[in-house]
Amino acid sequence: MVCLVIKQGGSAALPEWKALFARLMPGLEVRDWNDPTVDPVHVDYALVWKPDPGRLAKMVNLKAILSAAVGVDHITCDPTWPKNVPLIRMGGEEPVMQMEDYVLWAAFSILRDAASWRVGQQDKVWTRQDAPARTSAEMTIGVMGLGSLGAPVAMRLARAGFQVSGWARHAKTLEGVTCYAGAEGLSAFLHACDTLVCLLPETPETTGMVTYDLLAQLRKPAGLINVGRGPLVVEADLLRALNDGALHTAVLDVFDKEPLPASSPLWVHPRVLITPHAAADASRPARAAYVASVIEALEQGKDVPLRYDPAKGY
Ligand code: NAP
Repeated sequence: MVCLVIKQGGSAALPEWKALFARLMPGLEVRDWNDPTVDPVHVDYALVWKPDPGRLAKMVNLKAILSAAVGVDHITCDPTWPKNVPLIRMGGEEPVMQMEDYVLWAAFSILRDAASWRVGQQDKVWTRQDAPARTSAEMTIGVMGLGSLGAPVAMRLARAGFQVSGWARHAKTLEGVTCYAGAEGLSAFLHACDTLVCLLPETPETTGMVTYDLLAQLRKPAGLINVGRGPLVVEADLLRALNDGALHTAVLDVFDKEPLPASSPLWVHPRVLITPHAAADASRPARAAYVASVIEALEQGKDVPLRYDPAKGY
């Protein structure tokens, strides 16, 4: 019998996982990551979020590691993770749609300066904005990272009426999106955009990439939407840019330290909107359906998309 261990949602979530997989893959043995009776040698697949360091390495017959999230940094940060085992990122339509919806909300919030309305409501002050509102057609949004999430996000922004550009490591062709690539394309990309969406994975190359100097290259009033990972943005530089006007507004979903500590000045900044790493968070039924399709394909010896590439680091 094929055995799947799960670390997502804690032991309390196991009955729901079992019920879902009983319908999707009858015959699959579903076990709790924390069950002391599970013999690591008999585990075929592991579906995990932030696995305890060292545990995956003990599962010596693993056929694949399934990340419960689209990002895999929560697994690869463990130096002992078994690098010879395929590592598959979470996929399916639901997280893509959620990310598109979130970035659209954030983009319109920046466009209409919703942060100033938020402050007005908090203070019970009828705050009229000085400048006439820009329209979506007058704002250029640049999406950094054009992968499984960034590409559909960029195209959805374009369909919503924004001017859209994108930047990735390799050249791309996307409908309605002006694409730039590589270090040589970065400066032209930044100078042509008003709001930057960060949808890069966290890798040694991308960590700390969004600095004060990078933000200062955006057209003003500049906006930042970070939905990638917290460490991509240098938090001290972000605050400096917000405070001296290089950056007007930031919508932040991810942070260096999560949950964001109560002492962080970002919580109370009048031009920052904060969400609790909630941009894309697929439901258990959607995750189970995706995982079942991956296990089925792998059991049949087929290749699957969204496989982590150790050479690229994402
Ligand atoms: P992906 O499919 O791996 O795509 C990554 C993109 O980033 C690719 O376009 C890649 O370029 C580009 N890239 C990577 N390193 C680069 C570099 N050094 N320079 C320039 N471009 C680089 O990733 P994804 O599925 O779209 O997800 C992106 C990230 O979103 C995840 O890693 C995760 O951290 C984050 N995320 C956040 C949430 C949330 O709720 N906030 C939810 C899900 C995911 P090429 O295409 O040229 O290779």
